[in-house]
Amino acid sequence: MRHREAPPAPRSGPRVAVVGGGWAGIAAAVALARDGAGVTVYEAARTLGGRARRVTLEDVDLDNGQHILVGACRAVLGAMRTVGADPGALLVRLPLDLEIAGRFRLHAPRLPAPLHLLVGLLRARGLSARERLKVVRFMLAMAARRYRLPADITAAALLAAHGQLGAPTDFLWEPLCVAALNTPLAAASAQVLMNVVRDTLGADRAASDLLLPRCDLSALFPEPGARYVEARGGRVLPGRRVTRVEPAAAGIAVDGERHDAAILACAPQHAAQLLAPAGLLPELRPRLEALAFEPIYTCYLQYPSAVALPRPMLGLADGLVQWAFDRGTLDGRRGLLAAVVSARGEHEELARGEFAATAHRELARVVRDLPSPEWSRTIAERRATFSCTPGLDRPGNATALPRLFLAGDYTASDYPATLEGAVRSGLAAARLALAAGRIA
Ligand SMILES: Cc1cc2nc3c(=O)[nH]c(=O)nc-3n(C[C@H](O)[C@H](O)[C@H](O)COP(=O)(O)OP(=O)(O)OC[C@H]3O[C@@H](n4cnc5c(N)ncnc54)[C@H](O)[C@@H]3O)c2cc1C
Repeated sequence: MRHREAPPAPRSGPRVAVVGGGWAGIAAAVALARDGAGVTVYEAARTLGGRARRVTLEDVDLDNGQHILVGACRAVLGAMRTVGADPGALLVRLPLDLEIAGRFRLHAPRLPAPLHLLVGLLRARGLSARERLKVVRFMLAMAARRYRLPADITAAALLAAHGQLGAPTDFLWEPLCVAALNTPLAAASAQVLMNVVRDTLGADRAASDLLLPRCDLSALFPEPGARYVEARGGRVLPGRRVTRVEPAAAGIAVDGERHDAAILACAPQHAAQLLAPAGLLPELRPRLEALAFEPIYTCYLQYPSAVALPRPMLGLADGLVQWAFDRGTLDGRRGLLAAVVSARGEHEELARGEFAATAHRELARVVRDLPSPEWSRTIAERRATFSCTPGLDRPGNATALPRLFLAGDYTASDYPATLEGAVRSGLAAARLALAAGRIA
């Protein structure tokens, strides 16, 4: 097959294709464009951002799921700065102050780390004095071994072995695990949970700050990222679903167009589908297909503008909804609340209307005199993230084809499926593609 040449690279670097305009793909494209590569981003959807993007549902612009970042997301913050998306302006920064309505509060005082956490834990509301000491002892034990476990086990087994069952698990560890790993404690990787704890609660005070977007998720990074790429002569092609990837003379052809290297920055099941027609990488495809997924449900409820939560992000106990967000304090859409249920569970059996009704009932427990919502929209992402289980086989960025690379939140790293994991993976794939593309 003869392959068309991509337009000449604007700079001296190689031509690199990025398949997928999610956060991993855009992070890769930005790094490549910065370093002089001629980049083409192919994105199947009309809106950039993948699983963290703006969607329009019945004429209302929403995010396809409420997202949170933390201060430890250094790769995301760095990538935003590179493209001129100022984290200080686009993210609300809240010092660690977690509240589960009526049950628990962990507030870290303004002290140097690790004192901020130790004092915060020793004063935590909702834990007995004995439980507070147990949590502090657990944190100290994990810090002493630098959060490395001799072997990966489930988070539930680790917590049980360290006397964390009861309130510490119910109000601290389980909410943290489900929010970060999107996997129930009984199935979640204890090592990945400890990696997250190491880099947030176990790190400097700013690392555990919560960062909540003030704008929609596409505007937060993917769209400014695309503008950055285009300003450096790259092409970003939304609405272009790639169907075929195959080796070409000293390069990779993407739907017949030759590039010096290519990065597949789509979800693992889509990467496997792209490799199948040309019979590429037969050892890799089953590994990509073997990853299991967990859902995330987000219900947006619009109330009259006077309705507000006591804080921008509030935990809920004793029901389905785990976290509620007040978009009015974030993007100024007063009265708009988002109710989130992460990981698998009984809520998957509910019809959309029932799910919204349940979310409203549970919100009414924490907002006094809550009127009925004017409207609600539920977004069920059934494959929100991979299921982050112990000892998972996650492929690396490099493949057996020297000019073809993988990027995405699922590639090998010590992080769960997060924006930070996706951006780090994109940056790592870009480094490899740049080096491979430079080899004539
Ligand atoms: C509801 C929800 C809530 C979440 N909450 C959080 C959170 O609070 N904090 C956090 O850090 N993370 C959160 N995540 C996880 C985070 O969104 C993901 O880890 C991240 O967006 C994954 O990015 P990615 O680039 O690896 O993959 P994706 O976002 O899946 O991007 C892949 C892209 O490839 C495109 N594509 C696929 N096939 C093709 C093809 N053939 N041709 C062209 N393009 C193609 C897709 O359209 C997609 O845009 C959440 C996810 C969901 C769904």
